[in-house]
Amino acid sequence: MSKKISAGFDTLHGWIWMNGQMAAWENANVHVLTHALHYGGSVFEGIRIYNGKIFKLREHMARLIKSAEIIGAPITQSLDELCQAVEDTVAKNDLKDGYIRPLAWRGPEEMGIGAMNCSTQVMIACWPWGKYFGENEGISLMTSKWKKASPETAVTASKCGALYVTNTLAKHEAIKKGYGDALMLDYRGYVAEISAANIFFVKDGNVTTPIPDCFLNGITRLTVIDLCNENGIPIEERHFNKDELMNADEIFITGTLAEITPIIKIDDTPFPVGAITKTINRLYQKETGQI
Ligand code: PMP
Repeated sequence: MSKKISAGFDTLHGWIWMNGQMAAWENANVHVLTHALHYGGSVFEGIRIYNGKIFKLREHMARLIKSAEIIGAPITQSLDELCQAVEDTVAKNDLKDGYIRPLAWRGPEEMGIGAMNCSTQVMIACWPWGKYFGENEGISLMTSKWKKASPETAVTASKCGALYVTNTLAKHEAIKKGYGDALMLDYRGYVAEISAANIFFVKDGNVTTPIPDCFLNGITRLTVIDLCNENGIPIEERHFNKDELMNADEIFITGTLAEITPIIKIDDTPFPVGAITKTINRLYQKETGQI
């Protein structure tokens, strides 16, 4: 049986910045012999724009550059040039509220594992995108069988497309079982992250989040740590296991798309949406210019 293919992101309209030029949406294509399609050599970013203001643009584009360096596909454009390209893309598309997706990938100049002669190509697309999890009070998580790999096994400090194969499987597994997303532990059994977000818990007024030593150090995560420090909310980064997480008073997740999303259930255990989660959510909305 063939899979039903519905109209997708390739059929939207607008402009995509591609290797220094604005391409009409339908012309922003790559060849099937592009190295990244075969061997996973792509890195990306996700950025939100609120009321015409791009949140943490430089931080995101600096991370894109770093991700590309880590996978050995250095980007030729400078940080300033990339930031300007993002500004130009949102202006050209007249986007005031939504999502920006920069992507860098190994080009088609070589085939086979070696890619030292491949170019690094870059594109920036954007489109409107509301709440990632819809208008819910919070979401449920299912603990995944998939584990985050050791930094000796995978390029865990890079936002590399190849790493997302397991995250997608974890997400599918959770959705199929009726949950909102997947909780992933790491190769040591410590709590790590969600398929596309970081995790925090609150216990006795203290906020705790795992050390990002084998998963993405989210920019929203760093923003929340700063907001806690600036507002006198005790915050700690350390390793912890799932038993400790399940003993929390409140749990929330953070990400560019997820923003601050309360967790209302993990596996079969319910959690309340607590006061500290609500405070941090308000602080984040203020910081991003939403309120
Ligand atoms: N972890 C993963 C796996 C992600 O994909 C994301 C989303 N980029 C995050 C965490 C959160 O990162 P950020 O806050 O920078 O969006």
